[in-house]
Amino acid sequence: MPRCENCGRKWPWRDAFIKSWFLISGKACRYCGVKQYVTPSSRRRMGFLSIIPVAVLLLTESVIEVNLLDHFYIAAAVVVLIVAFLPFSMELTSEEQPLW
Ligand SMILES: [Zn+2]
Repeated sequence: MPRCENCGRKWPWRDAFIKSWFLISGKACRYCGVKQYVTPSSRRRMGFLSIIPVAVLLLTESVIEVNLLDHFYIAAAVVVLIVAFLPFSMELTSEEQPLW
């Protein structure tokens, strides 16, 4: 789980999960109140993780023969897993930094 760069306290999964949907804007730490931003490397990693469902869809299409509904279930399961995992891959910084 991400830690506040200012106070060093670990954010709860729920706060990190909410933050993962608003990568650009900062979110105040619930413990010290200092606004925290997702680090550029963490944003890139989270972006990479978000394309995994597409890769899984393409792989299942080429490797095994499944119908369209099964594709949907597989993609939905992968999306749920990745969304739940995103807070664990997040790192925070007190200063907003450009992505590149
Ligand atoms: Zn803090």
